[in-house]
Amino acid sequence: MLNSARSEPVANSADSLPNPEAFERVRRRLRAELGEDVFSSWFGRLELTEVTGSVAQLSVPTRFLKSWIQSHYVDRLKALVIDEISDVTEINLSVRGAVARMAPRPAVPAQNEIVPVERPMLERLNSETMSPAVKAPSETDALAGAPLDRRLTFSNFLVGKSNALAHAAAERISQNTSGEPLLYNPLFVHAGVGLGKTHLLHSIAHETTARGRRVIYLTADRFMYGFVAALKAQTAISFKERLRGIDLLVIDDVQFLQGKSIQQEFCHTLNALIDSGRQIVIAADRPPTDLESLDERVRSRLAGGLVVEMGTLDESLRVKIIEARVALARMHQPGFDVSPAVVSYVAKTIVSNGRDLDGAVNRLLAHATLTGGTITVEAAETAIRDLVRAREPRKVKIEDIQKLVATHFNVSRADILSSRRSASVVKPRQIAMYLAKVLTLRSLPEIGRRFGGRDHTTVLHAVRKIEGAVGADSGLREDVELLKRMLQD
Ligand code: ADP
Ligand code: MG
Repeated sequence: MLNSARSEPVANSADSLPNPEAFERVRRRLRAELGEDVFSSWFGRLELTEVTGSVAQLSVPTRFLKSWIQSHYVDRLKALVIDEISDVTEINLSVRGAVARMAPRPAVPAQNEIVPVERPMLERLNSETMSPAVKAPSETDALAGAPLDRRLTFSNFLVGKSNALAHAAAERISQNTSGEPLLYNPLFVHAGVGLGKTHLLHSIAHETTARGRRVIYLTADRFMYGFVAALKAQTAISFKERLRGIDLLVIDDVQFLQGKSIQQEFCHTLNALIDSGRQIVIAADRPPTDLESLDERVRSRLAGGLVVEMGTLDESLRVKIIEARVALARMHQPGFDVSPAVVSYVAKTIVSNGRDLDGAVNRLLAHATLTGGTITVEAAETAIRDLVRAREPRKVKIEDIQKLVATHFNVSRADILSSRRSASVVKPRQIAMYLAKVLTLRSLPEIGRRFGGRDHTTVLHAVRKIEGAVGADSGLREDVELLKRMLQD
């Protein structure tokens, strides 16, 4: 099988076309030499992209495959390629994703000027027309807060089932007036990445500022930085005083807050602000109870107000977000037209989060600009293909774990399933069981069955053993990490 690049137009002359038969012979010889397991683990997805001069351009889909092949098999691979493909004296191995992420090359030169796509176009268009974000504070003025993004306001925050409650609370808080009892304090919003936390927090900060109230927006990083800087400069008191002189404190990504004294300070600040009737809004990627790095008092203080989760964006909300992004892009590029069919296709395909929806619209825009044509559903599919691939969590199979671990430790999969108890087999077996537990949703008894009919207590023992061992043995930890990443890649 040859790669997808063939279905795309090849810009260079015919002598760069790959030779499928010769490459097939390379694959056959590799398979014969290494055996089916090793071959399919490492070379199953190796492709010959083209031959440029005397260099065979080979590619694999992931960085890990590339580095693995490079460190273990590159000499053999090179020898076989040189042997089988005439006039080739060198090989070059690259990662396909890096190429796929760029917009496809147009079949014919587009009429319009070609716009480089390194930087997301939408972002660039936005930053050109909208005035820049509020000036970043100087190093010495850490408490000036982090800059607010002008694009992130209530007016373009779209409301759906998943975020209606958080949005309502946010709007309500923005309308607080002085002296009024605060209903939701602190407001704690949690959601996965790209689901609109920062957008909502910036909206609150903008709106509150617009009503003439004093707001500080900080990321957890900035809070820590500000506090540490103030301590160093011996201005910690004024840092606190200034914090206490505000009406609203907004802290984003609080899961990153670390360090004992900083947490203590954070806790004091929270208490002092809440007790003196100031509003606090916090966002994190998890609920307060799961913020393990924070001490109990902080957690319970955070949990003591209104805690709201924003769920994943449902399809109708995704449609609204895509339409809004397209409309925004059209202000700068009136020819950019996306049919309802394409919007619906993207909304059905990109289910992860708002960030990926932005990415998808950027790609459609790049595609439309480069080809100058209208976007069909088919073209949209090509344009966002890599986004979809990158986001689909790969389902890890127990069989793949066993094969990979066996290859890695130079034993056979049969050894792993066998009842042999020699150390050279026991360790890989335990690692494979551990990986099966952490990378799949299988139960312990199920994993036991898949490992040669073992009891679930054996699996539990293996899992505990490896968990303990990775803490103490950095070599093992690296091995396990590498295996994990290769399986999930
Ligand atoms: P988080 O902080 O939760 O990781 P962001 O607030 O940065 O997520 O959102 C990621 C992107 O998705 C931003 O461009 C944001 O404007 C957009 N987005 C997320 N939710 C919404 C929404 N409800 N309406 C409009 N845009 C949204
Ligand atoms: Mg964020």
